[in-house]
Amino acid sequence: MTLQDLGWNDFFAAGFAPFTPEGLLPARVLAQIGVYRVAAADPGQPDQVSELLADTTGKFRRQSDSGGLPAVGDWVAVRLPGEEGEQGVIQAVLPRKSKFSRKAAGHRVAEQVVAANIDTVLLVSGLDGDFNPRRIERYLIAAWDSGAQPVLVLNKADRAEDAAALLAEVEAIALGVPVHLVSARSGEGFDELRQYLRPGETLGLLGSSGVGKSTLINRLLGREAQKTSEVRESDDRGRHTTTHRELFLAPQGGLILDTPGMREVQLWEGEGLATAFADVEELAAGCRFSDCRHAGEPGCAIEAALASGELAPERLESYRKLQAELRQIQIRQDELLKAREKQRWKVIHKAQRSHYKTKRGD
Ligand code: GDP
Ligand code: ZN
Repeated sequence: MTLQDLGWNDFFAAGFAPFTPEGLLPARVLAQIGVYRVAAADPGQPDQVSELLADTTGKFRRQSDSGGLPAVGDWVAVRLPGEEGEQGVIQAVLPRKSKFSRKAAGHRVAEQVVAANIDTVLLVSGLDGDFNPRRIERYLIAAWDSGAQPVLVLNKADRAEDAAALLAEVEAIALGVPVHLVSARSGEGFDELRQYLRPGETLGLLGSSGVGKSTLINRLLGREAQKTSEVRESDDRGRHTTTHRELFLAPQGGLILDTPGMREVQLWEGEGLATAFADVEELAAGCRFSDCRHAGEPGCAIEAALASGELAPERLESYRKLQAELRQIQIRQDELLKAREKQRWKVIHKAQRSHYKTKRGD
């Protein structure tokens, strides 16, 4: 294994450059298990990769907000352990090419990055019971927000009665995103999927539980790297001897990132909404009034498109719901900012009052 196999390239090398004089090494985070499991090497000797455990310092954690903490897939700058038994120290997280986030636990609206530096993300749906185009729209937004390139995967093609109809339904909302009909069970469609597994590139997966992500990963890797749900149920707990990893190297090159956090990704900032719903936004740009609410205003292009059948009512409804949800997140963020501002003024007023008191001499 070399640093390049792990995804090292000019982009990360540039991000690492300031740390070279400090005697640190670049490392990629393979898993988070309380501490981090990382793979590190000197860029001058890229084939001398070694795995080690590493952690951030308390100072690092205090100084960075939650979004700045290392996540699986991140490139970090580490100091190797000085004595045997000690773990490495993560000194910095290198600039990311892409990131998937969720809201950190608790009332605070804080960002928690759960996976970083994914090049291509497979948005996996199962063509069985709970096939849901509205959910696919959410995944597309999350993907556009992340900076990774989305690819839609419709799995369990063997289970669908009319796969062609479902494919057409998805292609209508995919807007330029490739769609693949596959079966992780039979291997149908996998020649096409394998093209996304390129040396030095990282593939991520997003999708509800049970859609077949683990089965798909195992087929791409050619080994039982992830337990599928059937195996999970009859699992005897004594046999966990393998080293825990969430970033896997495929034998033919390329990496697959599968971390539990990635499976709980939520909508976050929502700049991806405009991209995922470019069709709706483009139509709305044709409304006579720029602040048209598409509710009976004259010259409304959205209502015209609904009437002509160009725009499906479910798609508009879905767009409105997601827009409202994102506005809610925005409002909470604003409230947080206002509360902080109020606190700041309280301190300033208090300081002013005591200043006047001193001036008046009482
Ligand atoms: P995950 O939760 O997304 O990781 O899903 P799993 O990979 O654990 O799969 C959930 C269930 O779906 C298991 O019983 C799999 O055997 C089954 N499954 C996965 N892919 C396919 C497929 O292409 N066709 C069929 N019929 N079943 C599949
Ligand atoms: Zn309108």
